[in-house]
Amino acid sequence: MRRITLIPGDGTGPEIVEAGARVIEASGARVEWDIQKAGAKVMDEYGTPLPQHVLDSIRTNGVALKGPITTPVGSGFRSINVALRKELDLFANLRPAKTIEGVRAPYRDLDLVVVRENTEDLYIGIERKVSEDKAESLKVITRGASERICRFAFEYARKEKRRKVTVVHKANILKCTDGLFLEVARQVAEDYPDIEFEERIVDNMAMQLVQKPQLYDVMVMPNLYGDIISDLCAGLVGGLGVAPSGNIGEGIAVFEPVHGSAPKYTGMNKVNPTAFILSGVLMLRHIGEEEAADRIFRAVSEVIKEGKSVTYDLGGEAGTSQMADAIIERMN
Ligand code: NAD
Repeated sequence: MRRITLIPGDGTGPEIVEAGARVIEASGARVEWDIQKAGAKVMDEYGTPLPQHVLDSIRTNGVALKGPITTPVGSGFRSINVALRKELDLFANLRPAKTIEGVRAPYRDLDLVVVRENTEDLYIGIERKVSEDKAESLKVITRGASERICRFAFEYARKEKRRKVTVVHKANILKCTDGLFLEVARQVAEDYPDIEFEERIVDNMAMQLVQKPQLYDVMVMPNLYGDIISDLCAGLVGGLGVAPSGNIGEGIAVFEPVHGSAPKYTGMNKVNPTAFILSGVLMLRHIGEEEAADRIFRAVSEVIKEGKSVTYDLGGEAGTSQMADAIIERMN
C-alpha cells in the first residue's frame, strides 16, 4: 500500500475530496490515506493554516492529493498553495488539458500538456514602487531552474510516449532572460533525439492554440507564460470543472484541481468532483498505478458522455456525491 497525504481543504473542498477518495478507493489502486487538515479551519488550533506536521506528512509520503484552500483577500494568511510550492520546492507545474466527450468545449480530441516553471521569473515577487508614477518588478531566470524544468518536460514526454515538446518564450524581446531559457531548452533537447523539438514565441503560441491546438503536444515555458497559457488550454477543453494539476519536485509531488474552494456552494453537495478526480488520476500515474488511472479516466468519460449523472456545470442535476457514485458504478 502506498501512503498518500490527503488534504480535504476549505469550502467545497471536503465534499469533492470525500467523493474523489471514494472513486480512487473503488478503482483498485493500492493506496491508503494519511488525512491532514490545512487551511482556514486549522488556524485557531495551530496558529498557522499550514502546520508543520502537514509538511512533514507530505515529505514522508512523497505524494499528496489536495482539495482547494481558501486564501483571504487583502489581509490574513498568504496563499497556502504558494507556501507549499516554496517549502517543498515543487518546481514543475503540470497542467494536462484533454477533451472529454460531453463536456462543452470549442474543440474535440485535444490532448495538451503545459509544463510551467514554478519557482522563478516575475513570480519571485521582487517589486518596488520607484515613485508615485513608476513601479518596477524583477524577472529572474536561472540556468539551473531552466534546465530542470526543460529536462522534466522531456522526461515526462518520454515516459508518457508523447511525440513533441514545444518551448514557449519571448526571447526576441527579452534577450537575456528568455534568451537564457531558450538556450537551455535547445541544449536539453539535444539529449532527447527521439522527441521532436520546436520553438514558439508566446504571443504566436496563444493565437495558434486558439486556431489550431491539434498541432501541439507538450509545451514547456517560464512561470508567467505558463500561468496564462495553462488557463487558455483549460478553456479549450471545457474549463475549471475538468482541469487537474500536479506540482512536482525531486521525489515529492502535490496534485490538486485547478479550481478554488467555490465557497458559495459549501455544504450544498453541488460542485463538480471531476477536476479533483482527474488530479487523482494524475497522482496514480505518477506512482505507477496506470491500470487504476485508466479505469477511473474511462469511467469518468463514460459518465460525462452519458450526461445523466453529472453536476450542474455539465448540464445535469446530480450532486457531487451522486456523480462519484455513478463513476464508481461504471468501474464495477
Ligand atoms: P473558484 O474556482 O473557487 O470558483 C469560481 C467559480 O467557478 C465558482 O463560483 C463556481 O461557479 C465555479 N467552480 C469552481 N469550481 C467548480 C467545480 N468544481 N464545479 C463547478 N463549478 C465550479 O475561484 P474563486 O472564487 O476565485 O476562489 C475561491 C477561493 O479559492 C479563494 O479563496 C481562492 O484564493 C481559492 N483558490 C484556491 C486554489 C487552490 O487551493 N489551489 C486555487 C484557486 C483559488
